[in-house]
Amino acid sequence: MWRESCTSQSPNFPYSFLFLAVFDRVHTLLLFNDQIYVYICKPADALEQPRFCFIVQARLTAYTATSVLPQTSRTGMASRSRWPSTRSVLHVFNLLPSYNLSPLLRTVRHNCTVAAAAEVPESRKSAIQILRTAAEVRSWRRELLTKGLTVGLVPTMGALHAGHMRLVQSSMRMNDATMVSIFVNPSQFAPTEDLASYPRDFDADIEQLAAQDGNNRQVDVVFAPHVEEMYPNGIPLDVAEQKGAFVTVHGLSEQLEGRIRPQFFRGVATVVSKLLNIVTPERVYFGQKDVQQTVVVKRLVQDLCYGSVVHVVPTSRDANGLALSSRNAYLTEQTRQDAAVIYKGLQNAVMVYRQNTSAEKIIEAVVSTIAEKFDKEEIEYVCVNDKDTLEELETVHPLKGAIVSLAVRVPNKFGGKTRLIDNIVL
Ligand code: AMP
Repeated sequence: MWRESCTSQSPNFPYSFLFLAVFDRVHTLLLFNDQIYVYICKPADALEQPRFCFIVQARLTAYTATSVLPQTSRTGMASRSRWPSTRSVLHVFNLLPSYNLSPLLRTVRHNCTVAAAAEVPESRKSAIQILRTAAEVRSWRRELLTKGLTVGLVPTMGALHAGHMRLVQSSMRMNDATMVSIFVNPSQFAPTEDLASYPRDFDADIEQLAAQDGNNRQVDVVFAPHVEEMYPNGIPLDVAEQKGAFVTVHGLSEQLEGRIRPQFFRGVATVVSKLLNIVTPERVYFGQKDVQQTVVVKRLVQDLCYGSVVHVVPTSRDANGLALSSRNAYLTEQTRQDAAVIYKGLQNAVMVYRQNTSAEKIIEAVVSTIAEKFDKEEIEYVCVNDKDTLEELETVHPLKGAIVSLAVRVPNKFGGKTRLIDNIVL
């Protein structure tokens, strides 16, 4: 797992995997995609690791392996051939957000920058400018502003696919410059959700974004901040422990996805606010695939008087109709094929609606189609809602239309379930 994870991140902080030996304490820190894993290790083992490991001397007075994470000492690495299990690392991961590690990270980054600069492999360097801090983005933005150039922002969590790229293309068509943000936002994940295992492939993302479009244009800038840049005071996943400024769009965040994921839209609204404040784009792009998110964000922009215009881009689908999603990577081939019934169900909703405006009948059509391949109990919801207020409807007014949206838990390749969401506009 560790070796595979060793990929380049940026000229300043080139590896998503850093190895920090604290010589005076025989403790080791691993930095991995913004997260710190701490466990006990002999420095000699660290020194024997291949050249992608950086050995940095730093004095950690406030943070030691035992004081931060006593649980990890038992699963520590005794020799270099025994890496910690994924389970123990994920356990550590889940504990970490409760600690404010920003000062430590800053020290480590500062120390790593010099040592790391010479180690960036040539092939890993990208033509796309990668910015890590709000200050860098502001300075880039200021320059464009003085030239009178417009900016489109495409917020993503990475693991890019053709659906994301459609948003990118829309932005490139409509703006002088396009910025894609790649940030797996912790505050929208509950402690029980898949933050640790959420698909991440920064190199592949950059490669896709560097590909030029038909007009020989490519994305101008990627903003890929580290967690402490966006949450300088730390971000525990447990909402009860979160302190500071957060944004909630009341009335639109509690139903549908919000019922199953109560902190999700607070996390989304908060991170989108931060991005809009930092980037101040003329236009910002979201996918119809996450329809409730589009409604929440439009309202956020309106109520908090942001100057950006929200553009919603149609859902991109596989050939069989399955909506593209980063989490589709969790699915088996069989489930991917079976999941075609989800879009088929939504198309049936449209057919029923042409003859009958009752929400009950529309929902019945969707549920019975999905039940051809999946257990009915795994259908979390199928709802018919107003497009603007998300109010649940009993009858669809033909002049106003509605959204039919759903979530289904389908079997994944890890023997568990993955939630798929989708929707269609009536
Ligand atoms: P994510 O990285 O999943 O947070 O998605 C970033 C943006 O891409 C969001 O605005 C999503 O709605 C959008 N998006 C994700 N999947 C698709 C898709 N299949 N079609 C269109 N937009 C999508």
